[in-house]
Amino acid sequence: MLPVVALVGRPNVGKSTLFNRLTNSRDALVADYPGLTRDRKYGQAKYEGLQFIVVDTGGISGDEQGIDAEMAEQSLLAIDEAHVVLFLVDARAGLTPADIGIANHLRKQEKTVYVVANKVDGIDGDSETAEFYSLGLGEISQVAAAHGRGVTQLLEKSLKPLEKSYPDMHIPEVVRNDDGENAEAELQRLQSLPIKLAIVGKPNVGKSTLTNRILGEERVVVFDMPGTTRDSIFIPMERDDREYILIDTAGVRKRKKVSDAVEKFSIIKTLQAIEEANVVLLCIDAREGIADQDLSLLGFVLNAGRSLVIAVNKWDGLSKDIKDDIKRELDRRLGFVDFARIHFISALHGTGVGHLFESVQEAYASATKRINTSMLTRIMEMAQEDHQPPMVRGRRVKMKYAHAGGYNPPVIIIHGNQVEDLPDAYKRYMMNYYRKSLQTMGTPIRVEFKEGA
Ligand code: GDP
Ligand code: GDP
Repeated sequence: MLPVVALVGRPNVGKSTLFNRLTNSRDALVADYPGLTRDRKYGQAKYEGLQFIVVDTGGISGDEQGIDAEMAEQSLLAIDEAHVVLFLVDARAGLTPADIGIANHLRKQEKTVYVVANKVDGIDGDSETAEFYSLGLGEISQVAAAHGRGVTQLLEKSLKPLEKSYPDMHIPEVVRNDDGENAEAELQRLQSLPIKLAIVGKPNVGKSTLTNRILGEERVVVFDMPGTTRDSIFIPMERDDREYILIDTAGVRKRKKVSDAVEKFSIIKTLQAIEEANVVLLCIDAREGIADQDLSLLGFVLNAGRSLVIAVNKWDGLSKDIKDDIKRELDRRLGFVDFARIHFISALHGTGVGHLFESVQEAYASATKRINTSMLTRIMEMAQEDHQPPMVRGRRVKMKYAHAGGYNPPVIIIHGNQVEDLPDAYKRYMMNYYRKSLQTMGTPIRVEFKEGA
């Protein structure tokens, strides 16, 4: 599990600027569900060896009325899911009534709150931020989000207390030895563990129907587990002599009202489940086509390096024309995850559900497969023969050899002259060449380039 950090503050204090600095902004997931609006953005932050989930809650002023009050309520819900709240204020603008309103809200939430005075570049931080002590929320951290100043110190201060509960927030070093016994032992260990399978997707795509179908309603009794909205339910199960742990983000118990679907849906829960999983089963609703949300979730899965199987659900009762349309759309928009098997299923009727597990097993096997150095180097040479690397600064780039640099997902490291300067297109070509040659269905692979022999 990763800790969740919420950015709160009135508009224009610099929340997006800080969000973008902490994440790779193109990976932001924007919450855009009915009842969940108010541009909330979710991202996976990776900063100076630390990783966590960051939420930009959108601007709130603390004295919203009517529809605004409902939306502010949503922002506060996001705060409820967070472990730490960073309350941003604008050091240049000084203390405003809206800041005081938000502070009052936050005090009621009983959360760990850090006041962050932003935009301290070019001003006297100590004197300009002194007035924020009157918010009564403790020490003021000074940052300039636009320039990265103070951000490391802020994270150290706010995340340090969570270290014991969330050891995963330290970005691990991948297994770097290839032929050594350590890698071999690690792979054997991974292969013998139950496969952690997360079922994720937008609200109403059929996740709980599918989970119920997989578990077989009559055999498994799942109790309502205590916990907050950000917790998934972990369900051990067995299938074809293989052990699994299902990570259920939807809640298998039948819900009474449809509107509950949105209430129970939590992006944070989904992101945590992806982090926890070995294999992600992403459900897409055939009747709605591919939504931006689906693409964002896929981006997260890729970013996290998780194995992936895609289930296009509600495939029942569609005409052949519509089915063809959907397939064309999938081809067109899902090219960036073409390592993933796509299944067309009906969770409602059970059609195609059994075969999902073949792809899940295949994906995990691909992610934890031993690959030897001589084979990786041979494939590299073939790729180089088929398509010469381009010239960089007047010199031909030469790749010399390759070896495995880690597993789950597989990492391949290529050494050579000027290889770090290869254009992205060629790097992608190498990745695709490896994928095709190694037939690693279901898992992304990473190819890294290192200067020298
Ligand atoms: P949000 O509405 O809270 O998300 O605020 P934004 O991140 O959009 O920032 C509002 C404005 O403040 C933008 O014009 C930013 O360029 C500016 N800004 C953000 N951080 C800094 C900073 O560290 N220093 C200065 N001088 N300006 C900043
Ligand atoms: P969740 O929010 O992703 O857990 O979605 P649910 O499992 O609650 O399903 C949402 C709605 O879609 C319910 O009305 C289901 O009966 C319906 N549904 C789920 N799977 C299928 C399917 O395969 N075919 C059809 N036609 N409807 C389905």
